[in-house]
Amino acid sequence: MLIVQKYGGTSVGSLERIEAVANRVLESKKDGVDMVIVVSAMSGETNKLIDYANHFGSNPDEREMDMLLSSGERVTSALLAIALKQKGHDAVSLSGNQAGILTDDLHTKARIQHIDRKRVEGELKKGKIVVVAGFQGVTNNGQITTLGRGGSDLSAVALAGALEADICEIYTDVDGVYTTDPRIVKKAKKLNKISYDEMLELASVGAKVLQTRSVEMAKKLNVNLVTRSSFNKNEGTLITKEENIMEKPIVSGIALDKNQAQVTLRKVIDKPGIAAEIFSTLAKKNINVDMIIQNVGHDGTTNLGFTIPENELEQTKEALKNIQPAEKIEYDDDIVKVSIVGVGMKSHSGVASMAFETLAKENINIEIISTSEIKISMVVASKYGELAVRALHKAYELDK
Ligand code: ADP
Ligand code: ASP
Ligand code: MG
Repeated sequence: MLIVQKYGGTSVGSLERIEAVANRVLESKKDGVDMVIVVSAMSGETNKLIDYANHFGSNPDEREMDMLLSSGERVTSALLAIALKQKGHDAVSLSGNQAGILTDDLHTKARIQHIDRKRVEGELKKGKIVVVAGFQGVTNNGQITTLGRGGSDLSAVALAGALEADICEIYTDVDGVYTTDPRIVKKAKKLNKISYDEMLELASVGAKVLQTRSVEMAKKLNVNLVTRSSFNKNEGTLITKEENIMEKPIVSGIALDKNQAQVTLRKVIDKPGIAAEIFSTLAKKNINVDMIIQNVGHDGTTNLGFTIPENELEQTKEALKNIQPAEKIEYDDDIVKVSIVGVGMKSHSGVASMAFETLAKENINIEIISTSEIKISMVVASKYGELAVRALHKAYELDK
């Protein structure tokens, strides 16, 4: 049997916490059970390193950012291996590079392309607990890369998939996946199970309990994924195939994405090829454009609006400067995205209208709406984000 466990930033946030994690790992380490542990940097560490880099100016060199940020996870992996050894169990820490995590060369948000299992398997055969530094990999050319914020989740799932682990446990600071962020709504309920698709949508619209790409990969590789708390023994949430879930609620969860900014292009020339030019320019810079609206044109021009991650705003400004697609471009980072997710929406009507009515009752103006089969997203002013989440959570009776 092989277990992969991942411990997030808060779970390894102090030396005492690392010691607690070492004890927990040893509790799970029974005879005949191989263990691979993936760790994040201590909480706050990655942000601190980013602030250090920004001291010298905005948009620091991305190759160097990866060298810098990957160091946080290496610290915790080595400390955990040291703690495990002091407690009498053989262990070895490995960087992403040493663990054979091969990625493309998209620095700061690289994609895993392949995992070379040899080194990890060799260490497991020697009876060691293998502690892998999360969030990082290496390119074919030996360049160190990182996997995007929250990327240790992805390291864990990818290793679990490649090593054909029996289970991948994501240990964090909440008991599992809730109907919404329990920090915003006290009455949020823990879900016992959630489907890959719902979790994927929730993660992509801001529920940071799991990184989006890790859920994508778990679904693809059919990884048995569980999130649970490292602070207690409560049972967590199983992320699994839709057919394994008997009861399908209409709405499973609500998420708030604060990392959003809106771009509005005024008086864009209304002719074929303009939108293509704008969005291909952004795509080349790997900027994730999300919700898009275009007004009905008149006088040969039109207005075009879209959302992007707030932390890609500077890059977006720079990219659009080069093509000058509109008479005027407005940027607004004072917005958030509120989303409702549920597989039951597919077969129920009235879910969207209820959302709009709920926000109207609170006098919250909706700036952009987008929907998919199992999701409704709405852009609202930042100051209304949490109020909107609370009102919707109540309206869909998720606290019942
Ligand atoms: P880690 O450092 O362990 O990776 P994160 O901070 O990335 O942990 O993710 C856990 C946090 O995600 C929780 O503390 C919680 O505030 C937040 N969160 C947002 N939405 C949800 C949700 N639907 N269920 C559980 N937690 C959520
Ligand atoms: N330390 C990285 C981050 O803060 C990766 C992770 O924690 O998963 O984004
Ligand atoms: Mg995380």
